[in-house]
Amino acid sequence: MLNVNNVQIVYDNVIEAVRDASLTVDEGQIVTLLGSNGAGKSTILKGISGVLYPEEGDIIGGTITLDGENMIGRKPDEIVRSGVVLVPEGRQLFEPLTVEENLMMGGITRNRSAAAEALEYVFSVFPRVKEKRGMIAGYLSGGEQQMVAIGRALMSRPRLLMLDEPSLGLAPQIIAEIFEAVTDLSKQSNVSVLLVEQNAELALSIASYGYIIENGRVVMDGTPAKLMNNEDVKEFYLGFS
Ligand code: ATP
Repeated sequence: MLNVNNVQIVYDNVIEAVRDASLTVDEGQIVTLLGSNGAGKSTILKGISGVLYPEEGDIIGGTITLDGENMIGRKPDEIVRSGVVLVPEGRQLFEPLTVEENLMMGGITRNRSAAAEALEYVFSVFPRVKEKRGMIAGYLSGGEQQMVAIGRALMSRPRLLMLDEPSLGLAPQIIAEIFEAVTDLSKQSNVSVLLVEQNAELALSIASYGYIIENGRVVMDGTPAKLMNNEDVKEFYLGFS
């Protein structure tokens, strides 16, 4: 469904954040991108979602296609309409607004009845978000805010959900809840997921394929079983050898 081929991304005309990235995400599949800080993972997600600034010197090369259609050069809102949505690192909610108002922001590409339907869908994915619908988003726990951020992305009923570090700074119990919901999305709603995670073990526990990114390049890829048995992956990403 999504094909990223030999992509390079340069910021401000000089900083080569991604040198050579190729990856594929199929329908309903969970794919993870692993790698150390600064490896270029977030930049790959930004490139796919169209949030680079060519007028400020950001350059993207290679090809990115969705069902064979070119995505490079499209505006972020067009990309959302084509079914690809990013939940950025740090959630970026509208903190003074209520949970429901935040969710409705994610539904602005839809008409009123489609947005109402999407809201019920989000509540079915995250019942905890339904309970907190009237609360000010900034007052929720970090984990609940992450659920709202994912819920806001789901309001556009995406085919491909991209998550940047969803577990960062959260308690294990709520991480488990979020990852279970993400797994259900792929299994029950056939949503594809492209997941960037620092917690490699957790990511590989739900993904069916993974890519290791180092210095802007894909240096290894494979099934979780293959990656978890690789000595380098064990040492550098899983914390044991
Ligand atoms: P992290 O987990 O720390 O976010 P990452 O693998 O997602 O790491 P990126 O955020 O994609 O890495 O960063 C890749 C490189 O690009 C880094 O060297 C970073 O400093 C640089 N970079 C990221 N964003 C920008 C930007 N907006 N302008 C200039 N350079 C940037």
